[in-house]
Formats: sequence, structure tokens, C-alpha cells
Amino acid sequence: MQIITTVRQMQQACRSLRRRGTLGLVPTMGALHDGHLSLVRRAQQECDSIVVSIFVNPTQFAAGEDYETYPRSFNDDCAKLKAAGVDLLFAPSPEEMYSPDSTTFVEVPGIGDQLDGASRPGHFRGVATVVAKLFNVVGPDRAYFGQKDAAQVAVLRAMIRDLNFPVQLVACPIVRERDGLAMSSRNRYLSPQNRRRALILHRALEAVCELLEAGKTRSDILQGTLSRVFAADEGVRLDYAAIIDPCTLLPVADTAQGALIAVAAWVGSTRLIDNLLTENLPIETLHLHHGLMEETRA
Ligand code: AMP
Repeated sequence: MQIITTVRQMQQACRSLRRRGTLGLVPTMGALHDGHLSLVRRAQQECDSIVVSIFVNPTQFAAGEDYETYPRSFNDDCAKLKAAGVDLLFAPSPEEMYSPDSTTFVEVPGIGDQLDGASRPGHFRGVATVVAKLFNVVGPDRAYFGQKDAAQVAVLRAMIRDLNFPVQLVACPIVRERDGLAMSSRNRYLSPQNRRRALILHRALEAVCELLEAGKTRSDILQGTLSRVFAADEGVRLDYAAIIDPCTLLPVADTAQGALIAVAAWVGSTRLIDNLLTENLPIETLHLHHGLMEETRA
């Protein structure tokens, strides 16, 4: 596997890959798990060549967040990508990605101020900026992102539309641990006790699933259940439990036409997110959604 750390070399390498056919990009911040690898596999299935990036992007961390302590396991990550058959990894330093004089940022106001954008001011400005830069470095035909970060998907779709990036965003299903916890690099922060507590996010979404299966689609009913589940554990601090349109991230009164149910909570000092996309599809799809996650894991 070739590892490139400079923008110039990466642009050159990607130019020659694009001549061979479609190019897929999988952007990550490293500390790779099966969720990341599911994006890699999907990209490999759909593109002639793929590149993965590992970059812990400083501009998407707000002051006081975990930028310094964010898990970094570069050698392990390289071994996983090599085993997955990845040929090209882009792993720039912060100095390579951001000139000290850089003043240009990409903002997606409105959508970028909802959910994590509200709780983590400046977060989506950092995400949109670094993804726009990666698009300019790599020039991918398709870019693969996890539905786990549903708000990120909405923000990036808006950015791609508004700035006419010639890229198709592919959103991939959430990959979960066997007990339902959504995989996340931050799960490794959890103490054994908090690891058990963290299941509350998945439990809350399962409770919503049950209501939906019983035909209860009104957001106020679902919202009441979400609040009750989270209130049951004092060790968990709810950040948001939102029932929203997956594109605009604005609240919807009823989920019958499809909705995103997104939750974020602090478990100890670790902030975790999870969500359920009901989509405008028959209820069986909800089961399929969960089945798919298991399939992706296996
Ligand atoms: P990160 O390294 O956390 O920035 O994640 C890189 C990409 O992997 C993002 O598009 C995430 O949405 C995606 N991702 C992270 N966790 C999961 C998961 N459990 N299932 C699917 N995709 C994921």
C-alpha cells in the first residue's frame, strides 16, 4: 500500500488513477473499526480505484474538545487497510492540509447549525472545509460516508449541491457491535461500566422502532419515549433527541413520510451519537436496516 503525505503528490497520483476509471474516496480520522472498513468494501465494489484518507482534522474540533487525545493508531490502521486491499492512503499532517495563512472556509449555514452543529459550534464548518479540500486533492467520482453521522451526510450533500462538486455522495448503513452499540472510534474511551451504559442510545432507538411497528408515527409520542428512556439513567446526559427531516434536519410533526431519529448523549465524558432513518418505506425496511448492519459486520 502506497502512503502519500503531501497534497501535490496525492493530486498527481489521483490524476493517473482517474485515467483508469472511476475513483472512490473514503475519508476517515483513523482509529479504524469495522464501520470504516464497511465503507472501504462498498467503495471497492463500486469503483475502479479507491483511496482512503486518514486525517484528524483540527478545524472540526471546538475548543476544549478531544482533538489532542483523539485516538490515533496509524500503524494498526495501515495494517487493516493493507489487509482490506487498499492501494493508496492519504495521510497528511495538519501543516500540509492547512497553510498557516489559510483564511478560506466552507460554511453550510442552517443545516450546519442543527444537531451536532448546535452542540459543537464550528464543527460542520471544519468538516465541510476539510471534505471540500479532500475533494480538490483527490477529485473522486464517489465519496463514501457513514449514515452514523447523519447530520454530516446532510451537510455534505448540501455542500456538494451548492458548490457543484462533481461527486456522488454514498451514505452507508451504520455498523454495530453485536449488542447494538454503533461502532465509533470514541467507544474506546468508555470504561466497562460506561460501555454498558452506552447501550442506552441503541435502546432508545429500538423503543422508537417498536412504536413505529405498532403504527405510532407522531413525533410527540416518539419524543416522549426517547425522553423516558434517557431519563432512566442519571449517568447519561442527553444532548439531543431529534425527530427531523433527514435532508433539512428540521423537526417533523409526524414520521409517516419518513424521518431521521437522531440522538446524542454524554456517557461519562464521552459524547456518543446514533440514529435511525425510517425512510418513506414499509415498516419491514426497519428490520432490513438492522439486518443489513449485521450483514455488513459479518
Ligand atoms: P470518522 O473516522 O469517525 O470521521 O469516520 C469516518 C467515516 O466513517 C464517516 O463517514 C463516518 O460516518 C463513518 N463511520 C464511523 N462509524 C461508523 C459506523 N459505525 N458505521 C458506518 N460508518 C461509520
